[in-house]
Amino acid sequence: MPAIVLVGAQWGDEGKGKATDLLGGDVDYVVRYQGGNNAGHTVVIGDESYALHLLPSGILSPDVIPVIGNGVVIDPAVMLAEIDGLRARGISADRLLISANAHLIMPQHRTLDKVTERYLGKARIGTTGRGIGPAYADKINRMGVRVQDLFDPNILTQKLDLSLREKNQVLTKVYNRRRIETGPIVEEYLAYGERIRPYVADTTLVLNRALDEGKVVLLEGAQGTLLDVDHGTYPFVTSSSPTSGGACAGSGVGPTKITKVIGILKAYTTRVGSGPFPTELLDEQGEYLRKTGGEYGVTTGRDRRCGWFDAVIARYATRVNGVTDYFLTKLDVLSGLERVPVCVAYDVDGERVDELPTTQTGFHHAKPILEYLDGWREDISGAKTFSDLPANAQAYVRALEEMAGAQISAIGVGPGRDQTLALRSMI
Ligand code: IMP
Repeated sequence: MPAIVLVGAQWGDEGKGKATDLLGGDVDYVVRYQGGNNAGHTVVIGDESYALHLLPSGILSPDVIPVIGNGVVIDPAVMLAEIDGLRARGISADRLLISANAHLIMPQHRTLDKVTERYLGKARIGTTGRGIGPAYADKINRMGVRVQDLFDPNILTQKLDLSLREKNQVLTKVYNRRRIETGPIVEEYLAYGERIRPYVADTTLVLNRALDEGKVVLLEGAQGTLLDVDHGTYPFVTSSSPTSGGACAGSGVGPTKITKVIGILKAYTTRVGSGPFPTELLDEQGEYLRKTGGEYGVTTGRDRRCGWFDAVIARYATRVNGVTDYFLTKLDVLSGLERVPVCVAYDVDGERVDELPTTQTGFHHAKPILEYLDGWREDISGAKTFSDLPANAQAYVRALEEMAGAQISAIGVGPGRDQTLALRSMI
């Protein structure tokens, strides 16, 4: 022990990569437990910026063992390109461990992701187009291909045949697309298998043994609470469970081993893709946050939708994840505002609602009830301790802490590794 879970408290892109990297010095294992290369983590070390999509952020810390757990869906070509890219910059991925039970994203998944989105038209989810949803659908449908299948050409061919028999019907008859042939994919994926083989391990066993030996395991969520397939703004969600409960299923570490749940909370709110977003700013204020915060997707390059901090969501995230500590990120982006609006509750069809509306329609109708906190003009990007922050920035942090219902234990004041104020240990 201890096992620590790190989750995004909003709609993803809260700055989880930075938080994981920060904790890297104190942890022995960093584990991805869900999602795939729909994620995008940016870690800035000195003058170098690293954008990771599939590999756990811990890959950048030489003393950390990075693990891709069973709950992740892996696009092998993307993963190998990421490994090669890091190697070219002098960073070895030799320590990486990959679960034999993780599912694979196959070409038909990528194709289906794109054609179904087009088919949905105005009702589209705005997915990243990486094949995530179709890969998870096959997993749940018990038609998936797993990492271990790459080591048995017969099994791989059988499973792919089975999946393609159905998918080709859909592709050709519903979407008028070309069929996908098994042979070339088997060949391509067997070659990936040869390169992946050295990394494959019984990751559940490794992690539980490590915990028994007193090692520190960080379970790193991708995306965020409101994108969770159960607890998010369904159907505008991803197809996995980024919330803390998903960490156990996606890694094989039992809930009794979890000692801390760290929520990553941005000082304002962003969202990519479609779906309700009560505090969204469609005016120049939203543009200001986007520009100042650099809110453009790491994975797709799309503009992120931007809005003020939403305390209703933060409270919800505290509750469904059992958050023990928050890492508040990007506080520096708010510097220079005269007053900082914060959403404290919603107006839903004329009624004040303090918690997340129980129906999708209610959430779509939610209008933010704002309170205005005093802003600060000072540049805070060089602050080293909490007391270096201007009084109004301190008050903003304390107000957020109160509204979210969990302590804020670290604050990000810039993208660099050293631009973090640690208020207490989070481990
Ligand atoms: P998918 O995960 O590609 O299926 O996309 C489903 C929804 O989740 C879309 O709205 C995406 O924009 C969103 N999404 C997926 N991954 C991320 C992420 O890492 N950050 C923010 N949004 C994401």
